[in-house]
Amino acid sequence: MNRPIYLDNAATTKTAPEVVEAMLPYFTEQYGNPSSVYSFAAGNKEVIAAQREIIADVLGAKSNEIYFTAGGSEADNWALKATAEAYKSKGNHIITSKIEHHAILHTAEYLEKNGFEVTYLDVDADGKVDLDALRKAIRPTTILISIMYANNEIGTIQPIREIGEIAHEHGILFHTDAVQAFGQIPIQVDACHIDMLSASGHKLNGPKGIGFLYIRTGVRIRSFIHGGGQERKRRAGTENVPGIVGLGAAVKRAAATMEERARHEIELRDELIRQIESEISYVKLNGHRTDRLPNNVNFSFRFIEGESLLILLDMKGICGSSGSACTSGSLDPSHVLLAIGLPHEIAHGSLRLTLSEETTKEEISYVVESLKEIIAQLRKMSPLYEDFIKKHGSEK
Ligand SMILES: *Cc1c(COP(=O)(O)O)cnc(C)c1O
Repeated sequence: MNRPIYLDNAATTKTAPEVVEAMLPYFTEQYGNPSSVYSFAAGNKEVIAAQREIIADVLGAKSNEIYFTAGGSEADNWALKATAEAYKSKGNHIITSKIEHHAILHTAEYLEKNGFEVTYLDVDADGKVDLDALRKAIRPTTILISIMYANNEIGTIQPIREIGEIAHEHGILFHTDAVQAFGQIPIQVDACHIDMLSASGHKLNGPKGIGFLYIRTGVRIRSFIHGGGQERKRRAGTENVPGIVGLGAAVKRAAATMEERARHEIELRDELIRQIESEISYVKLNGHRTDRLPNNVNFSFRFIEGESLLILLDMKGICGSSGSACTSGSLDPSHVLLAIGLPHEIAHGSLRLTLSEETTKEEISYVVESLKEIIAQLRKMSPLYEDFIKKHGSEK
């Protein structure tokens, strides 16, 4: 087995070798500025247009609806801030959920400080938004609904088509943070009435620091970065040509391998879930059991502290995550796990393992063996566990 056993693909993924290869000439040979007139550089304009086309095709969108950004966070910020500004004469109310990525939640909080009102919808125990609650939250002043396609921590996939229909019926814009879903599951913007969609290269075997925002034709959205005329004057700055080429190559690859990759990952995901549930006591699977990203496994282990678990797994060469990488290092339990109703002490003992196409059966067995050993070791040292066993008898 190769080390490390990398099971943190929701945090970031390996850039695929063919993606790197596609990018390289744009650093060393074809380094011209796409805005320059001479033919040496102008070719890069066409290269960028071709990548836009690839991405638009995958989404069922038009290529002039794809705007390159420096990643998912920027796309999320742009979607919220610029629509808020452009539609503030219509209303000041935005609806989102409690389990969004911080790129959405912190942007929403920023907007609240600037005169906007935000409803943060609850989710059920599986992490799904309730459509009736969404309908009830709509006001005459609602200008935007932003609900993530799939959650980065627990993998739950939202009823996006239904949410899009509700937004559409009410004439409200619908944005979705699809950073985890795009490249993993099929997405069609028209069928789901999606007006804006965020995605990021490094979550789909592309490079870091590049992503895009899909903006449907007709959506009034303000420029995010002022300067030159790039990205139809909405996002200035010399294009990240190698990054855009890498993103295009990654999207093409992800679309071509999606079915087979999903089949492989779902098989191993379900095997990992099955083994953990059958071999370790006092565990709880977080997230929806079937409406779930193909590569996501998230468990809470009672009487366990997630950070200790991660450190001991690391010593065995296994990379996992206790919440999202952004919140690790803080002692607050994940806002997502609290939103699905876990008490603090259970949320603290959580582990996310996110698989890739390279994950093997052998690795899964090794991870389960390691987990069994580590959890037994940690529980042996836990006074809470000792009390529990005294009261309830030994393990089932
Ligand atoms: C990773 C992630 C982001 C942020 O994307 P970056 O490209 O890292 O800025 C936003 N939303 C979700 C759901 C993510 O998983």
